[in-house]
Amino acid sequence: MANLGRMTSAEAAAGPGHLLVPLGATEQHGPHLPLDTDSQIANAWANAVAERSSGWIVSPLIPFGSSGEHQGFPGTLSVGVEVLRSLVVELVRSAAHDFDRVVLLSGHGGNFVPVTEATKQLNAEGHDVRCLFPHWPDWADIDAHAGCTETSIMLHLNPDVVQATRIATGQTAPVNELMSVMRSEGIAAVSPSGVLGDPRMASAELGRQLFDDLVARTVNALG
Ligand SMILES: [Zn+2]
Repeated sequence: MANLGRMTSAEAAAGPGHLLVPLGATEQHGPHLPLDTDSQIANAWANAVAERSSGWIVSPLIPFGSSGEHQGFPGTLSVGVEVLRSLVVELVRSAAHDFDRVVLLSGHGGNFVPVTEATKQLNAEGHDVRCLFPHWPDWADIDAHAGCTETSIMLHLNPDVVQATRIATGQTAPVNELMSVMRSEGIAAVSPSGVLGDPRMASAELGRQLFDDLVARTVNALG
């Protein structure tokens, strides 16, 4: 499995021609998960996909995203919509000199608008780029943020960083009912703990199943 940051320029020139770019975030994930949860998930996702596919190199992770809705919680570092959109556009234009395909894997759902807009612009410029977000069409009970879904995946990927004694239920109303308040006032207005969902039933085994399903569908999608 090839990791671009650890290759020499000569090795990159001789290597396979497709690039996976993990996009993360640095934002609160409740009292029990670290600020780099989305970054860890994006990195693991990209590396697992590269291991199971031929011809893909993994780019260094982008650790900052569009996380304004989490800004009220200490430790959150957001670059906002416009900077992320520009960053993706410039990065893919640069990558296009050496890579014939680029796939962006975002661990943070809040990156959706800027990354989707950037991808549309790049496609219009003729670049072969697409963006994917964690998505489980065959599963019920996927929750939104620091809930059972993300906590289970972290228990599978890196259990040492999960502070199990601090796990508590968060705001469990459907996200679409909360969206307008979250957009105008931030996540703290609907969930004082920052959790959207209920992580109390999280398990490493569920995390393994969710992660393996995500990786398998991504490998299929890349063909
Ligand atoms: Zn997250």
